[in-house]
Amino acid sequence: MPMHGKFECNLQGCCCANLRGQISKDEIEEYNFRNKNGQIYYLMPPKDWTINLFEWEVKRLIEIAKEKNVNVELKPNIILFDEKQKVGIAIGWNLEHDNCPFLSNLKCSIYTERPLACRLYPLKGIFEPEDGTAFVFKCPRVDKNYFGAKLKMAEALKLLRSYFGDIFYYSEQNHFLNRYTIELIKFITNKGKFKPNRSKPLDFFRKKIEKSKMYGLEEFLQLNNIPIEKYVKQREELQNIESFKKMMDTILDANGSQ
Ligand code: SF4
Ligand code: SF4
Repeated sequence: MPMHGKFECNLQGCCCANLRGQISKDEIEEYNFRNKNGQIYYLMPPKDWTINLFEWEVKRLIEIAKEKNVNVELKPNIILFDEKQKVGIAIGWNLEHDNCPFLSNLKCSIYTERPLACRLYPLKGIFEPEDGTAFVFKCPRVDKNYFGAKLKMAEALKLLRSYFGDIFYYSEQNHFLNRYTIELIKFITNKGKFKPNRSKPLDFFRKKIEKSKMYGLEEFLQLNNIPIEKYVKQREELQNIESFKKMMDTILDANGSQ
């Protein structure tokens, strides 16, 4: 149970093993909602997802794995398909292991460099259905009674900040970085640099996708000489957790602090 309304992880690495099958119906609904215009395809069923990684995390994780001589398998799981160039554009990668290969003696061997999906755990999702804010928690140590009341988003965020501390900021950082990705997709779609398929189901495409080249989103843009420096700078600023915390606190405390 939490002490004085604060979450405490037991640091036993229990959420770093048996990674598959943890995604809930709420999370899938939220992903589908965000993909209202149907541009995004899931290359594997969400039940098989483990740790979701951003493009820039994939590169770093591969480097770390080489340095540590750890075998790591990563696969694109969320993609766009460009009808113009007939290439896949990955916007999410899955860690293809049932148990994380960086877990060693129940401890994370890359703790200071662990992916964002690990940092925000167990606060996996915050969303706002009509009847109040809902959360997705994935840890038996979260006192769910503490979050019993249906709250407005601003109140809910303050409560989560006081209960989860840094975990809350990482969860919001993840949310902002997902928004960054969506903005980047809108930017290239509006500029006509990318032609999404909006009508055909994944099964129709699957063979084409399997045979086509796959790029990361930023990689695709750079290869096509599309200037995205402004966007990348914005993304790097979002990744700075100290300035991100200040920004979140300013937003949350604008109407009185908790
Ligand atoms: S977040 Fe929860 S499930 Fe994960 S290691 Fe900590 S106590 Fe265990
Ligand atoms: S990277 Fe570290 S924190 Fe993340 S799942 Fe692996 S062992 Fe756990």
